[in-house]
Amino acid sequence: MSRHEFELKTNDQIVEMRKAGLMTAAGLAAVRAAIRPGVSTLELDAAAEAAIVAAGGHSNFKLVPGYHHTTCISINDEVVHGIPSADRFLAAGDIVSIDCGAETPSGWNGDSAITVVVPGGTDLAVNKRREKLAKDGENSLWAGIAALASARYLNDVGIAVEKSIYGAGNYGILEDYIGHGVGRSMHEDPPVFNYKTKHTGPAVSPGLVIAIEPMFTAGGRKVKILADGWTVSSKDGSDAVHWEHTVAVHDRGIWVLTEPDGGVEKLARFGVKPVALD
Ligand code: MG
Ligand code: MG
Repeated sequence: MSRHEFELKTNDQIVEMRKAGLMTAAGLAAVRAAIRPGVSTLELDAAAEAAIVAAGGHSNFKLVPGYHHTTCISINDEVVHGIPSADRFLAAGDIVSIDCGAETPSGWNGDSAITVVVPGGTDLAVNKRREKLAKDGENSLWAGIAALASARYLNDVGIAVEKSIYGAGNYGILEDYIGHGVGRSMHEDPPVFNYKTKHTGPAVSPGLVIAIEPMFTAGGRKVKILADGWTVSSKDGSDAVHWEHTVAVHDRGIWVLTEPDGGVEKLARFGVKPVALD
């Protein structure tokens, strides 16, 4: 075995993983619909949980030792791993990222995140800056996904993500928080970097299923962990963004498992046609 040792999925297994992807997407859609000024992050978490259960799955975040919620919800300078709380409320104009995952009864996983700006902010300059940050994050995710379609080696994805981020602004890419393989566990090998690394990473071949998840700030790349032991926040207090999709390399092309249309619409501008088997 090479030093890159991880399970490649069969086409049939990828079809099973699509179910987990759609459950995850349902969770995030429910959160998106519930976002408004004054809502508690615990209420958003409950919306995700209900949608995943209604879709026939269960939360895989709850399978992470010591974590008891369906989502991570991170606000403004928080980058990732914010814990939902009945005492934490969204304010108009906040930039908030929601990370969510689901597992099927058969044990396959999905993992996805979005960043949105809470409507109603009155500081138009702040709104504009945060809307751009959210959009630049989303664009970097899709640039990485598009790169996967023709990648020889996995770090081709990181190179594309990094190029997109630095092409959009003077941002700080987190170094120690990265994407990963997805399968029977939410977190598997291989690591998926959001920047160019010294090594190319493993060869990209059919059966590879990964979570691509750019995380960066509007300032520096340094982060700190808050007193709750989970929340990762920017060290300089700058706003942060996090987007994520679970993407499979099927032998007929890539398939964005956590995007309802499989990535067809978002990949069109890159000239990439994903497989859409459902
Ligand atoms: Mg995630
Ligand atoms: Mg992830």
